[in-house]
This record gives sequence, structure tokens and C-alpha cells, in this order.
Amino acid sequence: MSGSDELIVRIAEVPGPVVVVLSMGGTVSSVREPGREGSVPRVDASALLGDVGSLSGLSVVSETFRMLPSSSVTGADVTALAARIRSLGATGRVTGVVVTHGTDTLEETAFTLELLAAATDVPVVVTGAMRDGSDAAPDGPGNLRDAVLAAASSQVRGCGVLVVFDSVIHSARWVSKETTFRAAGFSSAPLGPIGWIVEDRVRVFSRPLLGFRLGPGEGPTAPIAVLATVPGDDMIVADAALRAGYRGVVLAGAGGGHVARAAVPVLSAVAAEIPVVVSTRVPRGPALSKTYGYPGSEVSLRHAGCLMSGVLDAAKSSVLLSALVARGADRAAVAEAFAAFA
Ligand code: ASP
Repeated sequence: MSGSDELIVRIAEVPGPVVVVLSMGGTVSSVREPGREGSVPRVDASALLGDVGSLSGLSVVSETFRMLPSSSVTGADVTALAARIRSLGATGRVTGVVVTHGTDTLEETAFTLELLAAATDVPVVVTGAMRDGSDAAPDGPGNLRDAVLAAASSQVRGCGVLVVFDSVIHSARWVSKETTFRAAGFSSAPLGPIGWIVEDRVRVFSRPLLGFRLGPGEGPTAPIAVLATVPGDDMIVADAALRAGYRGVVLAGAGGGHVARAAVPVLSAVAAEIPVVVSTRVPRGPALSKTYGYPGSEVSLRHAGCLMSGVLDAAKSSVLLSALVARGADRAAVAEAFAAFA
């Protein structure tokens, strides 16, 4: 019998509402080992649950789905994760699903699960930790406890995929990692979280407007080059990406989504071959679409065949573009999808 079937058998055997924890690795699963520099993912899902304390009235079952530092989680891994969540929802016995994940790319995984509509049947809550299990004050157990409580709460139903971290609840649509070292690792700037967990009580104060989704199917498995720009850069690197076989380009432009004038001919030529999406390196606010008209502005880039990313930052843009390309979306379908985020 496969590991996945064993999980479903275990779910059938436990009484009452069941929350399933699927672990992916990351700091929340990491410890330091004697004779080795730096911590590594080692702790399986059931061991993670050992530290969360009693959760009366709730049955929690777990599965170690992957054991990876999150930079090594692939689009194929997350596609498989979404399918796994769907199979758990199909049992009719699962109240909610928690995914534990490295924080570095947690936002890409959460947004992918949201795009793939993984939270249609059951709430899906992603969490992690900034301090590993060997730290003097690990934050993983508290985050996991909060995430389980959130996943079991009727409050979060219909809110899409959520991220619970440092006592607050974020929508996967907006969340991103904002610090490399503090326990409050995530932000939904410029908006803010949608709720919190205080004294084990889950409260949701605003519900995200959930628009565009791709639905079940292929996730972000097509290679997309995510490129930064610096002043004066002609972005010849975008042409190199095209030649290297990348199937799309996401650009973290300056300001509202701007590049040097010298970059426009290169980006125009690349955009004739593969989709080029222009986002912004600025952490708060959308890429613009019609404010500036000089060469290198958003207007000139649109006229050169590029798409603007709207409210999606470069990381989320790459997820959406990769999944669209992987599904064989044509130019019009890619434009329509990004227009939904304008
Ligand atoms: N390097 C870790 C990761 O797997 C960081 C973390 O989980 O906080 O993303």
C-alpha cells in the first residue's frame, strides 16, 4: 500500500473532525546536527506535531510530503501537493489541511495552491517558522498550533488559501516574506492581514475578494526567467534567457514597472517570441499601466508587446505565467489572466 493510501486509511479511523498536516520541509522541519554547519530539514510531520500541545476535540493526522529547503520545491512538487489536498478533500472526512513549508518560497507555494483552487473543498493553511527546532525560541510549534486551529475553524471557509504566521492570518493573494530574521516574517502590504489567532480563538475580520483562478491541473512547471533591472541596463539578459530556452520572462522593473530606454528594443524582440510580463521591484503597490509615456515606461513597454503584472509582484507573476505557459495558454489567454490582476 502506498504512503498516500495509508494516510487516507488513518483519516477514516480517527473520530471527529480531522485536520491533516502535510509537511514540505523548511526551517520549521530543520535542526542542527553535530559536526555539521547550519541547520537542515530533518524533522518529519508527526514529530512536528509533538510540540503543539493538546488540541481538544480535534484529530490531527500528518504526512511528510517532501523534506526540502523551500528554494528546491519545484512547480511539479506543488502541482502534486494540490492534487494531494484535493484527494484529502474528496474523502469528505477532512475539516482542513495545513501545509508546513520553508518560508523562503512559501508565498509562491501558497499562491500556486490558490490559483489551482486547492481550497475549494477544505480550507488550506500554509505555515512555517523563522527559527529552527534547535533555536532557543523556535516559532514553529506556535505557528503550527495556530495553523491547525485556523484550518479547523468555520471562520476561514471560503477565504481561499491562507498563510498563518506569528499569530496573524494572511490571504495567499497578498502575502510575501518581508524579513530574513524576525519571527513576524510575512506581510500583506499594502493591505494587511485578514484576521488573527489570539488565545486559541480564530477571528477573521475581512474576507478576500477571490477573483481569477486557473483551477485544478498543471501548476508552475514551465521555466520562467525572473529578471531584475538596474539603471541604464539594456536587458540583453532577456534575450539570453530566450536563447537558453526559458518560455517566459518576468521583469522586476523599477518604480511603476520601468526600464532603461535601451532595453525597449530587446524586450520588444523577446516579447515577439515568448510572453514578457513587467512587474515592479517596489514592495508596495501595483505595476502601472498608463501613467508614464517615455521610452522605457509602462506605456512604451505595453506598445512593445509586454504585459503589465498589475498587483502581482515578480514572484507571484512568475507562478501565474509559468502555470499558464505549462497549460499551453496562447498570448490572448496570458493577457486575459494578467488583466484580471490589473
Ligand atoms: N531556508 C528555509 C526554507 O526552506 C527558510 C525557512 O524555512 O524559513 O525556506
